[in-house]
Amino acid sequence: MGKWLLLLPLLLVTACGGTFSPTLRVAVASQKKLQVKEVPIEKYLLGVLAHEVPGNWPLEALEAQAIASRTYALYRKAHPRSKAYDIEATVSDQVYGHKNKPSRSIQQAVSETSGVVLTEHHELFPTFFHSCCGGQSESSDNVWPAVSADAVQQLHADPYCEACPRYQWEYRIEKSKLAELLSNWIGPSEVIEHIKIDRRYPSARVSELVVQTKHHGKKIITGNAFRKALGYTQLPSTFFDLSDLPDEVVFTGHGFGHGVGLCQWGAKGMADEGKTYQEILQFYYPGSHLVTNGAALPETDSETIPEPIPETIPETMPETRPESKPMDIDSLKPGTTDPE
Ligand SMILES: [Zn+2]
Repeated sequence: MGKWLLLLPLLLVTACGGTFSPTLRVAVASQKKLQVKEVPIEKYLLGVLAHEVPGNWPLEALEAQAIASRTYALYRKAHPRSKAYDIEATVSDQVYGHKNKPSRSIQQAVSETSGVVLTEHHELFPTFFHSCCGGQSESSDNVWPAVSADAVQQLHADPYCEACPRYQWEYRIEKSKLAELLSNWIGPSEVIEHIKIDRRYPSARVSELVVQTKHHGKKIITGNAFRKALGYTQLPSTFFDLSDLPDEVVFTGHGFGHGVGLCQWGAKGMADEGKTYQEILQFYYPGSHLVTNGAALPETDSETIPEPIPETIPETMPETRPESKPMDIDSLKPGTTDPE
């Protein structure tokens, strides 16, 4: 059923040679008010790229981002976040707004790729992206186990993102402060005696850590939960080693973000070397296909995927790290629907 819903409008529009410009219900929260804006997809993309990538990046990198963002948005339209809206305007999905004006290159990238999306087995897939993989991609299996798309599951080395400011990083934290941040796992007022990395994924990212506490023995924490507890900015990735010193822990790592799908700094590196957006997308989403007029997609589909861990912002952009769960509409004062 879902497949036919996806394919039928696509075939109809393609056969008629027409254009179809769906709108997206975008949830924007400001000052504890929720607004759901109906935004035409191509206009939405201008407001996404202006916040997701620097406007002076090379055109081929911006075009790759435009296609990845369009595909992700339409995937969300088919798999909405909630009954009230399709997608959030934050790093939980893609950052969208009006604060930054889209550069001329961004406008060109969106218009020249208008309607182009990525598919796998004739269906959209969640085209995850992140700031910088640090030289090694991650499989979506290790971040979103329910996602079945092959194009975001394959591991590969990335030689293109070394210019990323956080290609290598160090983060130090006092053990007493770390114990506070981990109190949900190790208990309140606990003392950390030792901490070590217990397991890694094949990508070398941390799968599990073991914390030896003074009062409650050993506690196991997943790498993803650990990073969320410390803060996505403070601990830029789970691709790290650690040194367990008497009073502090020193993390040294690579990259910024979850490492799944398109590496934004890698896309820039490929474009700087003269690669086309087609080559960039094939490198980061291997086995996927570019489809034109892919904007014609179903209205809704009840299937959902787990909430992504938010991280999509390049190093040069301001960032926020909200909770990755959908916005709780009931806890927010009703806002106004503001069609654009
Ligand atoms: Zn990379």
